[in-house]
Amino acid sequence: MSTHAPVRVLRTIRGMPTSDGAGVRLTRVIGGTSLPDLDPFLLLDEFGTEKAEDYLAGFPSHPHRGFETVTYMLDGRMRHKDNHGNEGLLTPGSVQWMTAGRGLVHSEMPEQESGRMRGFQLWVNLPARDKMSAPKYQEFAPDAIPQLTPAAGVRVKVIAGEVDGTAGPIVQPATDPVYLDIGLEAGAAWDYRLPEGHHAFAYVFEGDAVIGVGDEARPLASQEMAVLGGGDALHVVGGTRDARLILVAGRPLREPVARHGPFVMNTRQELMQAFVDFQEGRF
Ligand code: MN
Repeated sequence: MSTHAPVRVLRTIRGMPTSDGAGVRLTRVIGGTSLPDLDPFLLLDEFGTEKAEDYLAGFPSHPHRGFETVTYMLDGRMRHKDNHGNEGLLTPGSVQWMTAGRGLVHSEMPEQESGRMRGFQLWVNLPARDKMSAPKYQEFAPDAIPQLTPAAGVRVKVIAGEVDGTAGPIVQPATDPVYLDIGLEAGAAWDYRLPEGHHAFAYVFEGDAVIGVGDEARPLASQEMAVLGGGDALHVVGGTRDARLILVAGRPLREPVARHGPFVMNTRQELMQAFVDFQEGRF
């Protein structure tokens, strides 16, 4: 990959409607048949609804092992509890970065009976050496997430990674993640340098935007995800109306992935062991 080459849209993907937990309706963008994974990212779900029946059942007690789950709330309130004594309330604009490591059992339940619930859950893989590390739980309130105006009409919240010398609160050396929430006024343009060699995607969740320059410029509609590549110089422009998107990037692990449900390991043997350990109460 040559430095400073423009980022191109390699392909676009639309999420698939699905349900998870006890029947929460969501849109699976990564982790479904159209894009099983984008190393180091294993899953991206968007949840967004005004209808309480779509989210009330929540995600009752369930295990994870071998990776990290990142929940970014846009609207609504969700309570997290795990079997290691951690508990927290996710409020609009907050982020929870949970390292499942060798295993935990938790629940993620809505703490509202009406109104809008909207946000994202992203799964970030851990390298083999960290899969059996101690579980860790980090929660960041909205005011712990720096917000910048790096160009006219551009507003960026830095959840992870760095923008103009301002770093987000998440530190994860293994995958060196970037996670930005970008707001663009119609026609507003922004240039951003991605870490070289990272895999990256952008997902538009309000309005529309254009990624790339010249002949390679590609419009993205709402609920459309672009897999990015070809260089490290990202040029993004707001479309016909105000837009909002997430930009996520990470260093690929390039390790074998053996996954089933909430367990993501390197080998089938380790996957089987995860089931046994969970059933025997070792999480
Ligand atoms: Mn979970």
